[in-house]
Amino acid sequence: MTRPIVAEISRSALAHNLRVAQTHAPRSRIMAAVKANAYGHDVQLCAPVLADAGVDAFAVASLEEAETIHALNLAKPICLLGGPFADEEVSVAAERGYWLVIHEDRQLRWMENCAAQQDLQIFIKVDTGMHRLGFAPERLPEIFAKLQAYPHWQVLGLMSHLARADHTEDPFNAQQIGVFDQTLQNFSGLTLGQHSLANSGAVLALPAAHQYWVRPGLMLYGLSPFAGWNGIDIGLQPVLSWRSEIVATRQLQAGEWLGYGAAWQAPVACRVGVVAAGYGDGYPRPLETDTDIVVAGQKTRTLGRVSMDMLFVDLTHVQADIGSAVHLMGAGGPTLESLASRLETIPYEMSCRLQMRVPRRLG
Ligand code: PLP
Repeated sequence: MTRPIVAEISRSALAHNLRVAQTHAPRSRIMAAVKANAYGHDVQLCAPVLADAGVDAFAVASLEEAETIHALNLAKPICLLGGPFADEEVSVAAERGYWLVIHEDRQLRWMENCAAQQDLQIFIKVDTGMHRLGFAPERLPEIFAKLQAYPHWQVLGLMSHLARADHTEDPFNAQQIGVFDQTLQNFSGLTLGQHSLANSGAVLALPAAHQYWVRPGLMLYGLSPFAGWNGIDIGLQPVLSWRSEIVATRQLQAGEWLGYGAAWQAPVACRVGVVAAGYGDGYPRPLETDTDIVVAGQKTRTLGRVSMDMLFVDLTHVQADIGSAVHLMGAGGPTLESLASRLETIPYEMSCRLQMRVPRRLG
């Protein structure tokens, strides 16, 4: 008997969400952002499903993440969004054929030192206003000329990132898109390139940002980038269904205390269930008392403090017993978006919290 906890990853939801992205950006190719272990969902399960469903490339944050996908033999390009981070990474990228995104002069030096005679495919990251990564647009002619001096190197295109795509009405988006378009116009050397600007928010609502590549992440997991909206409200399907079971029950009398810190006191007699999931699995500790949770298909709430491996639920008005299914979040339970908003964070962070000690299963 194993600990009754599982994160089910829905194949059909992943494929559906990819289709939604394709429908919104019909002229673009899809580079799926699968960094951070596919936003906590498990890249080893998600990447093959996305590849089968017709994704065109994968985007990751590190060489290690690229190597994990490479080992899956999916025959799709892999793009290192932030890398290389060191000269030896350039050699591995060249050997494997990983696409590089360069944003700093030292990366150019690493490339010159390690791969002057090797094939490299490169995006140039341009800073259109987010001021996180990227060369200033004025520097592009110089950077492009340096790259062109190496016959084995191919510049795929320009890449940039939007800071406010989760607020599509914000004029900051038009400003960034304008800088990107203007940069392309000023710089005819790259007009036919494989440029890329859009993340999920822009795929869904800013067609002017759809270039050759779009780079959705969050929406592929069925989650909404827009505050106040759930993925399901905007036609997506949640990929994650995080489940556990009731492993013990308790009858509390009025006035008795529950769990660590004796932080919750029963106001009246009540029935409590103990669930095999806790903050050690990625269930956020601040989701104590009064957070939505679903037990045996019935809505109820958490009670008291969340422990490392367990949490409490209110069974007073719920027909359930030891062995009953508990849906903690995702399909069948509260949405990640609603829990994120309760914690004043974003669904990105909620899904990334899910620990690998929770077994993943494709469903
Ligand atoms: N492109 C870059 C450079 C990113 O950093 C991210 C995510 O943070 C994405 C694409 C995907 O963004 P989203 O998950 O909002 O679609």
